[in-house]
Amino acid sequence: MVDKSWSCDGLTVAVVGNNGRMGRAPDRIDVAIVGAGFAGMYMLHKTRSAGFSAHVFERGGGVGGTWYWNRYPGARCDVPSLEYSYQFSEELQQEWEWSEKYATQPEILRYAEHVADRFDLRRDISFDTTVTSLTWQGESWHVATTASTSGVDGDAATTVTTARFVVLATGCLSAANVPRFTDDRLFAGRTYHTGNWPHEGVDFTGQRVAVIGTGSSGIQSVPVIASQAAHLTVLQRTPAYSVPARNQPLSPDYVASIKANYGEFRRKNSLTRAALGGDTPTGPHGACEVSDDERRAALEARWQKGGLLFLGAFNDALTNPESNRLIADFVRDKIRQTVRDPEIARRLSPDSVIGCKRLCVDTDYYETFNRSNVSLIDLRETPIERFTRRGIIVGDATELEFDAIVFATGFDAMTGAISNIDIRGRDNLRLRDVWSEGPLNYLGLAVHGFPNLFMITGPGSPSVLTNMIVSIQHHVEWITDCLAHLRRESSSTIEADPSAQAEWVQHVNTIAGMTLYTSCSSWYLGANMYGKPRVFMPLPGFPAYVQRCTDVAQHHYQGFHVR
Ligand code: FAD
Ligand code: NAP
Repeated sequence: MVDKSWSCDGLTVAVVGNNGRMGRAPDRIDVAIVGAGFAGMYMLHKTRSAGFSAHVFERGGGVGGTWYWNRYPGARCDVPSLEYSYQFSEELQQEWEWSEKYATQPEILRYAEHVADRFDLRRDISFDTTVTSLTWQGESWHVATTASTSGVDGDAATTVTTARFVVLATGCLSAANVPRFTDDRLFAGRTYHTGNWPHEGVDFTGQRVAVIGTGSSGIQSVPVIASQAAHLTVLQRTPAYSVPARNQPLSPDYVASIKANYGEFRRKNSLTRAALGGDTPTGPHGACEVSDDERRAALEARWQKGGLLFLGAFNDALTNPESNRLIADFVRDKIRQTVRDPEIARRLSPDSVIGCKRLCVDTDYYETFNRSNVSLIDLRETPIERFTRRGIIVGDATELEFDAIVFATGFDAMTGAISNIDIRGRDNLRLRDVWSEGPLNYLGLAVHGFPNLFMITGPGSPSVLTNMIVSIQHHVEWITDCLAHLRRESSSTIEADPSAQAEWVQHVNTIAGMTLYTSCSSWYLGANMYGKPRVFMPLPGFPAYVQRCTDVAQHHYQGFHVR
């Protein structure tokens, strides 16, 4: 049973930081939460509401996680705002007003800050505090932290908090990938990573700018940077598929119609594979099962509507290679129709499986290549040789001169932020060692050898294949129910069983193997990071996963050892 003497009543001291009120960690708590993004914030609210003492440690200076760090020009969500938001509080979802179909980063950050204020979260969050190690001490975890400023860990003395449970809300896309290039330190201009953007913003007016990377972050930032810069050079290694966002202000009537029945809207969304777009169900046919005209009409309708649900026009986009090719052909046609220079259109056209890497959603991305101040370098034809003081030398010894270089090079996804912490479980087992061949896990929630440690949207769960706020809520609620169960049963530890874990990892591999997801070098597979084991990490299919988690809980936490 959770020791009542550990209640944090009276132990949390409010201090004033640059982000307003924030809490100082008590020496002992029931639940230590790492990260104050949407996952950590709701975890704090939920555990506190269930009567546990809880405290959040956050590396950054404020709440919001992704939306605190990713302040690059053009950053916004690509799941509609009315869906990309919490649903645990009817009052919250009724009172918050989203202004656009896809909210901008500042608006989403304001929402996170509103949630923090509304639920009085800051008093139990230590900002500018990085968790450096987690050590299992037989009955509880020692949580070691150090002070950090702007995400850079200082060498301040380590402080330790003791917690019965630890929840890793560290984010799937929070450990920036900054690839190294020969002589990259020589460059005399400014460099930026989209995932760690200066808070004061960057004015590229009159500058010669390079963007390396054409995933979602590159594709969102390129049109905005191009509109400011004297010249923008996009350095593309792999062309991405992108569909138009068709972003627009939200009409009050539409918002009112959703809010009139928000619960039902949310329920329908959560029944879909990706926990989004319940109003636009996946088409009933395969792309090869209809005539050419019908296929084009269905794809055109989704293209005009815009957004990620483009891939849902047919039910076999990610299982049937021929259907996938037909859908990809449609997008390649769109690129050719949009980009005036046929050579640039060719370079921008992917030849891979559409949807294998995460689909991008853009505003005027392809159109931007018609501007006279934008050029495209295909790094497959002319790779980066080295950096110089003035810029970058590509393949044919051409030196491209820049004032600023933007790394839109992504993240050490799903495991990076967790592996950055020195986590030692039972018998001093290191999580990094346990994961050396890939992230072993049970339900994407726990790892054998690491009792009382939970992950939110961890590898092995649907996480990044879904509207993540829905997946986050599901995990937070499942974990809180689990903690309440342990308290009721007077149990002190819970740990994943090794065979249940092995079976789960096999299950995830089997499901992924039935799709086309494994056919390309994506970050889902860890293929963007040198030396990272190639294992498909997320699990396709949200509703079946939720059912499985419910079954596990109902069968006395089947697959876990509860003591
Ligand atoms: P995060 O928001 O990443 O928060 C994790 C927090 O943990 C961070 O603040 C980090 O500083 C902190 N942290 C990590 N390690 C430590 C440590 N050792 N010590 C202390 N603190 C630590 N998903 C969607 O579903 N729809 C979208 O439209 C969408 N758009 C996105 C756009 C961008 C630019 C990016 C990068 C991601 C996007 N995502 C989107 C995914 C997004 O990450 C999730 O939707 C969601 O915000 C994740 O919340 P989180 O709390 O799990 O993680
Ligand atoms: P990403 O999808 O991993 O894209 C990184 C880009 O950098 C790729 O084009 C990659 O090329 C390139 N790159 C990486 N290393 C390189 C190197 N050494 N040399 C040259 N190019 C290199 O990262 P991201 O764009 O930040 O997006 C990550 C995820 O965050 C997205 O998939 C999405 O889930 C989320 N996100 C969402 C939105 C949104 O629209 N709401 C916006 C941003 C991010 P290769 O493809 O060849 O590896």
